[in-house]
Amino acid sequence: MGLIVQKYGGTSVANLERIRNVAHRVIRTHNQGHDVVAIVSAMSGVTDSLIALAREINESPDKRELDALLATGEQTTATLLAMMLTSMGSPAQSLMGFQVQVRTDQCFGNARIQDIRVDRVRSLLSDHSIVVVAGFQGCDAEGNITTLGRGGSDTSAVAIAAALTADACDIYTDVTGVFTADPNVVSKARKIDRISYEEMLEMSSIGAKVLQIRSVEFAMKYNVPVHVRSSFSEEEGTMVVNEDNGMERVVVSAVTMNKSDARITLRKVPDSPGIAAKIFTPIAAAGISVDMIIQNTRASGKTDLTFTVPKADYKVALAIEKQVAKEIEAEDVFGDENIAKISVTGVGMRSHPGVAARMFACLAREGINIMMISTSEIRISCLIEQKYAELGVQALHTEFGLDAA
Ligand code: ASP
Ligand code: MG
Repeated sequence: MGLIVQKYGGTSVANLERIRNVAHRVIRTHNQGHDVVAIVSAMSGVTDSLIALAREINESPDKRELDALLATGEQTTATLLAMMLTSMGSPAQSLMGFQVQVRTDQCFGNARIQDIRVDRVRSLLSDHSIVVVAGFQGCDAEGNITTLGRGGSDTSAVAIAAALTADACDIYTDVTGVFTADPNVVSKARKIDRISYEEMLEMSSIGAKVLQIRSVEFAMKYNVPVHVRSSFSEEEGTMVVNEDNGMERVVVSAVTMNKSDARITLRKVPDSPGIAAKIFTPIAAAGISVDMIIQNTRASGKTDLTFTVPKADYKVALAIEKQVAKEIEAEDVFGDENIAKISVTGVGMRSHPGVAARMFACLAREGINIMMISTSEIRISCLIEQKYAELGVQALHTEFGLDAA
């Protein structure tokens, strides 16, 4: 018999009735003879309301206190699920992050897992107890409560599965799996049966919200097969696994879009050593991450430089660059929030040339202008006007033969 880790997201534990459903599922697995460790998120909406509460006191709440506050969301569901399981005849115990222990660094709000001690989990399992772990949280070396970043329960689940060398890690959510495109945008989107870690990593990094990106990094590093599936149906979901031969036959596995970035352009920047560093160092110092960057060289010794940042950081980044522009004597700085990034991802790109050309031609047929392009070995992204995002995704989905029959 195996050891199964099951993670239940916010919508799956949104109220007591749903927690009861989750308990049924956990008990069913347990009754099949498996050891079960259930990892839970906060009830949907709870993390957001806790953040809003804290912000009523202070727009930027103290990070240590905020983490301790947010961790109560997962504490609530973990304890309720443990009580529910026990009341249904299957003894269970909850463990918070610090009790497991999930040891992290001290980066409140976005802590990284350094080490997981699973002795306590193991000893509970050997007493035939079901173990319920509060996701999203850990503790630093001094015992402070930390959280792992939004969506971090996925990472808790995969990391705990890795530490326990679990036989399966099932991520239960409100969708039936990973799709070739967002079904709300593309009616002919299909569920993907198997997707490689690498593709999932690329898709998470461009904003597909099914799995927190760090959970995929963990899964890939420790070879944890992850099954993304719905807690509202019995349907098989999507397996996130090592790449296999069949996967390369598909040129593009998924088309995604992301409207969460904004663009900043510095015009007529001096084309000399050290200028790019001057432009990006203060952005980095402000903790803002930059995504796409393009720079053109001009004959005049001046160059235009454009980059994208998260919309949430746009105003701060623009203000920083206005200052920088004065110092480096750039002619002008302007920005644009009405942009979207659309991407095609697939390991098949490695062995099929011409994917970029096909993507550009497809967008051109729709009259969509491309503002910026970036690529990785298995992904091509284009920045376009936001109002064309849906149209672009639909067209690409058809172009690459992904439409359901
Ligand atoms: N409750 C946290 C959030 O809303 C973590 C999670 O759900 O994975 O981001
Ligand atoms: Mg999630």
